[in-house]
Amino acid sequence: MPDMNNDSEQITRVRRICHQLCYSSCVDEKRKGLHERLLCLRPHWSVSKKEEQFQMIDQGADVPFDISLPLPARDGRPDSDRGVKLFWERFRCQQCGGCCFTPGAGLFLEMEDFERIAERIGKKKLKAMCKFDRLLKAWTLVQPCPFYDMEKRRCQIYDIRPATCAKYPLHPPAKQLPYNLAVDAFCPAARQFAKDTLGWWVICENNWAGILRKLERD
Ligand code: SF4
Ligand code: SF4
Repeated sequence: MPDMNNDSEQITRVRRICHQLCYSSCVDEKRKGLHERLLCLRPHWSVSKKEEQFQMIDQGADVPFDISLPLPARDGRPDSDRGVKLFWERFRCQQCGGCCFTPGAGLFLEMEDFERIAERIGKKKLKAMCKFDRLLKAWTLVQPCPFYDMEKRRCQIYDIRPATCAKYPLHPPAKQLPYNLAVDAFCPAARQFAKDTLGWWVICENNWAGILRKLERD
């Protein structure tokens, strides 16, 4: 019987090694479309179970969760933002306004965000649009966001929008999957991105298989 604990430890180890060793070549391969060639060589779980995976991804419209993308997350290394860069090169916002105009607990403002926006519209006016979160010791913009112009379907302070908005739909990587980028499944463009790049997992698994073979030899 396979040792499940040992197997999952091994997978975690392989993912960690992959992240440390392959993060730059992995992004280059994905940018060039290497997965297309690999797909011709052998079928792949992420592709053979495509419909099932699409259904799971689509649940993000109603159920809050993050999708793990097959792109390396940024870490402490100076040149480790390649995965993030490729994400922004390919991500196409659908301008649905969902992230701005959805009721929620409040949109966290960094101190710099608060000061930048207050400088333009005035502190008093901004405070009237916010709540002070005692736990976070920070101002949060009420949601739906008062800066969203429903008629023109755009942000009225786009050039100085909060950092959280500028990063959206990227979220901090999940604890269980710290090496992959995470996106909010609520965003339709993020869901589309996850579907379009399903084949990128082929490159990851190809690299993992190579690492496993090497670990077994050593
Ligand atoms: S929810 Fe996604 S697609 Fe819609 S406006 Fe926000 S970032 Fe763009
Ligand atoms: S500040 Fe702008 S980008 Fe951010 S939630 Fe409000 S309308 Fe959207």
